Amino acid sequence: TEACLDAIEQAGALNAYCHKTPEKAREMAAAADSRIAAGDAPAMCGIPLGIKDLFCTRDVPSQAASRILEGFLPPYESTVTQNLWDAGAVMLGKLSMDEFAMGSSNESACYGPVVNPWKVDDRQLTPGGSSGGSAAAVAADLCLAATGTDTGGSIRQPAAFTGTVGLKPTYGRVSRWGVIAFASSLDQAGPMTKTVRDAAIMLGAMASVDPKDSTSAERPIPDYEAALTGDIRGRRIGIPREYRMDGMSDEIDALWNKAAEMLRDAGAEVVDVSLPHTKYALPAYYVIAPAEASSNLARYDGVRYGHRARLEAGDGVVEMYERSRAEGFGPEVQRRVMIGTYVLSAGFYDAYYNRARKVRALIKRDFDQVFADGIDAILTPATPSAAFGLGEMSGKDPVEMYLNDVFTVTVNLAGLPGISVPVGLDRQGLPLGMQLIGRPWDEGNLLNLAQSLE
Ligand code: GLN
Repeated sequence: TEACLDAIEQAGALNAYCHKTPEKAREMAAAADSRIAAGDAPAMCGIPLGIKDLFCTRDVPSQAASRILEGFLPPYESTVTQNLWDAGAVMLGKLSMDEFAMGSSNESACYGPVVNPWKVDDRQLTPGGSSGGSAAAVAADLCLAATGTDTGGSIRQPAAFTGTVGLKPTYGRVSRWGVIAFASSLDQAGPMTKTVRDAAIMLGAMASVDPKDSTSAERPIPDYEAALTGDIRGRRIGIPREYRMDGMSDEIDALWNKAAEMLRDAGAEVVDVSLPHTKYALPAYYVIAPAEASSNLARYDGVRYGHRARLEAGDGVVEMYERSRAEGFGPEVQRRVMIGTYVLSAGFYDAYYNRARKVRALIKRDFDQVFADGIDAILTPATPSAAFGLGEMSGKDPVEMYLNDVFTVTVNLAGLPGISVPVGLDRQGLPLGMQLIGRPWDEGNLLNLAQSLE
């Protein structure tokens, strides 16, 4: 804990932490020491963690990197963070992210951008997003591991950009209670770690059956570390042909082949598979996610918590709503609220939202079919490129940024577990990640397969 607190002070330029809790960290570390001395040391005992700003932490600022939640101190603790503290973990502070988890570069945070600890010459790069602070902190040793959340790739893409491991569990494996909602049918929290083994241990501590989240699954939580047998003989890995996109770089392609080779060398069988509706995933996601977001974000109205605009004589409640939201939400969040409101509006509901829901069912069916054919996991790149430069996307069509999510959004639409593992470096020396997608509830086997890629 002390080493991390020192490192955090020295790495202020990365801007990874938006709120530091050193006193709390020292108290929790001392309590962990006592537990260890008493011979009661659970899995995460004394492990210093960073927590994404999307998780509500009692009496500690939790503002989803948005001005609209300025000054908000949750009176309660999210289930995930409570589970981690119960398992002995130590909180170092809160980590920056894209505002309300909308973005792929961490540049929409109200705290300013986070800098990737990896660089090319002097060029500053994005750590990815939305869990960019988490990824940068893990990569720069500013914590041993961090929590992330993933609605369309926000754990896996930043992990790929920073050479770390990021796991998005099956929808329902980890409680969403106390995690500030973006798109409730897609959101899932997960571990961001240095190794696959750490991800296995941390997932075990995060997961629980939670009556406070109606979508939390009533399923036993297996011992994920015990699943890391190293034996993957006879496992069948699918390579989906639709993921070979036009214009994909030869480096990503070569790495994909290398990862397939590593799995083959370890005794797995690698076969071609088809997921025919893949090309509709990105458009369906960018209808469904904003639709749910526009509804979830309706609660930020300047009345109950956070930022309230200054009113002038004669202003009424409508002016207060409008002005508070206009000042409190950044441009990307406003764009999503407008898209979401539009696709849910009476005249367009069937053409957009309902259509997207049908497409989502087809995407899920593609995966069901592949798994029914005996495939254990699917191997794809995590991202279409390595980390891009800070500011590189500004002023461009926002769809350019959305294209970053092309390999990850299918997994959320289908509710499946997915993991990004660093597999190599590109020509510039930047990390690239490969993604393994597993059967529902099969995180144990997924982690075991992922370990063969390390
Ligand atoms: N980049 C995607 C988006 O902007 C995914 C974000 C996420 O997973 N939270 O919506």
